[in-house]
Amino acid sequence: MTARRCWAMAWAWAGAFALAVAAPAARADLAAEELQLAQISRRAFDAPEAMLAELSQRWPADFAGQTQRESAWLMARGRVLLQAGQIEAVEAVAAQLMARDDGVDRSWLLRALVQERAGKSAGGLASRAFTGLDRQCPTGDEARAVAARQCDFRSAWEALRLLQRDQYAQGAFVDAEASARRALALATAGDDRHLVALSHGMLAVSLQALDRMDAARAELQLGSQAAAGDLVAAARVRNFEGAIERRARAMAASRAAGEAALALAEQADAPHLAAQLRSNLVNVYLHLGQLAEALAVGRKALPVLQRFGDRVYERSLHHNLAVTHIKLRQFDAARQALAKASEMGGDPADLVHRARELRELADTWADAGQYREALAALHDERELNARANERNRAAALEELGRKYDSAAKQRDLELLARDGQLKDQQLANRQLAQQVAVAVGVLLLLSVVLIVVTLLRMRRAQARLTANQSLLRAQSERDPLTDLSNRRHFLAVMDQRAREAAGGVFRGALMMIDIDHFKNINDWHGHAAGDAVIVEVARRIRAAVRDSDLVVRWGGEEFLVYSPSLAADDLALMADRVLRSIGSQPVATAEGPLRVTASIGFASFPLGSEGGPQLDLHWEQAVNWADMVLYKAKAEGRNRGVGISAVDAPNADRLAVILQDFDAACLAGQVSLRQLAGPA
Ligand code: GH3
Ligand code: MG
Ligand code: MG
Repeated sequence: MTARRCWAMAWAWAGAFALAVAAPAARADLAAEELQLAQISRRAFDAPEAMLAELSQRWPADFAGQTQRESAWLMARGRVLLQAGQIEAVEAVAAQLMARDDGVDRSWLLRALVQERAGKSAGGLASRAFTGLDRQCPTGDEARAVAARQCDFRSAWEALRLLQRDQYAQGAFVDAEASARRALALATAGDDRHLVALSHGMLAVSLQALDRMDAARAELQLGSQAAAGDLVAAARVRNFEGAIERRARAMAASRAAGEAALALAEQADAPHLAAQLRSNLVNVYLHLGQLAEALAVGRKALPVLQRFGDRVYERSLHHNLAVTHIKLRQFDAARQALAKASEMGGDPADLVHRARELRELADTWADAGQYREALAALHDERELNARANERNRAAALEELGRKYDSAAKQRDLELLARDGQLKDQQLANRQLAQQVAVAVGVLLLLSVVLIVVTLLRMRRAQARLTANQSLLRAQSERDPLTDLSNRRHFLAVMDQRAREAAGGVFRGALMMIDIDHFKNINDWHGHAAGDAVIVEVARRIRAAVRDSDLVVRWGGEEFLVYSPSLAADDLALMADRVLRSIGSQPVATAEGPLRVTASIGFASFPLGSEGGPQLDLHWEQAVNWADMVLYKAKAEGRNRGVGISAVDAPNADRLAVILQDFDAACLAGQVSLRQLAGPA
């Protein structure tokens, strides 16, 4: 950004700030100033030089950074210069406006007005200008936009006027009506009665073209009302009326309106407008056969149109004068007029209109018996028509192309829409799939949780079951009276050991204990005393052996102690301890203290002798050996222990033989016994 632009922006902000502070008085001032500028621009139509002078004289010394205001002044200058025919100067102003942020649309408008003045089609440029200008004036909210000074409604209106003319010329009457209505809305929002009046006129012309004559007349009525007190506006409304009546072939009414318009223009001291109105009247008078009047008004209009550089009206006037001259049989004058008309060219876009003129000319020449000229005009007309047809054909082709394009675009849009639908469907499907996946996932998770919980419960139940089973097993392997292991438990332990030991060999020490004369205790003191004795003897054995030793209630009053690893000397000591613990102290029963003794047989396995072989036995055989020495203790008087200290046998088979005749083997010295005396 250049420094200058920086300053310009700073000034613009300062200006906006000043405006905000000074509003609304400043706004009202600006609005009044714009109205003045509009009036100067309008007045320039009839007094360009004077207005140019007035504008220069009033030109502000300093716009104080009010860019919008400066643009408005520039625009007014451009319009006045245009009326003065200073086209180059107008172009310069247009370029100036184009360089301003808020001047681009107005620049297009100015160029459109230059086109119009040259008799060329201005629709394209006007539409370009209007698009930008209209954006500042939102439909339905124009009044607020105007009050807020966002909407340059006069420029927008002017662009619409050009647009509407173009639409009308092309036969797009519905569009022309719409443009006129929008113009009316803008003029009303801006409270510019002059423009309101003209808008009604424009609307009326459009409605007449749509064969809505009553509506058109009503609009004219409204236009006249709006134009009250404004002679130029009133003249223009009457001129609209004249044109409408002429097109409706109501020539007398057209003449009346045209003459009234002219009177008003004269009254308003508007020479340019008056000349245009006179030029229009020539046509009306011609159609009414008032040739003298036609010639008179035409002659009066011509120099004025020339003075104002109004080439459009001048060319048309030359033509009409030519026709008048022919009808008056003033053929030379006619030819001169025609030469001038063709000199002026005209809008090449307006072929149809010119062809119609030539046709009229040809007819007039023919009516006047001037067949050569008539043929020439006809020839020209044919040529023009051919060109017009060619142009129409091209236009039709172009239109067809546009239609095709728009059809293709429509197809594309439909395809796009269908594609969009498809994508929506896909999206919906994907969402559904996601939902299903989530649901399945949740279900799976729940299942896993359920399975885990079930497994945990099963394991707990299993653990409980196992615990219960082992409790049951423990209970089933326990003697209820003494709480010692029972014979079943001992068998289980032996099975276990046999599986672990190679060949089911039994290792360890056994001690078989049997209470002496227990039958007598039962008989003499009762079964309950017997039970008490059994319980106490069991307790005393348990206390006399080590914790690691297994104490089993082998039968009624028989006990078995199994020591997995115990030296032979230690076994004798243990047997002695058991003898003493049972027999030293009487057992307390309900029947009183009872003296109890026991006999013990004990042995340590494998069996063997010092220097001889150590012979392996099965546990059942080992128990038989313990039983055998217990029998020995009983036989030798009870209250004692008998153990095997050595067996002299070469092998296990021999051991079995020894056991069969144990006493003999003892006598033979094959078995050495150890004797323990019980307590006295
Ligand atoms: P010995 O000195 O030869 O061993 O003679 P004993 O009387 O001790 O031996 P015997 O085997 O003849 O008698 C054992 C008795 O023990 C037989 C039985 O009625 C009794 N008995 C077995 N079990 C129980 C029991 O649980 N409670 C009671 N009170 N008596 C029992
Ligand atoms: Mg017994
Ligand atoms: Mg006994």
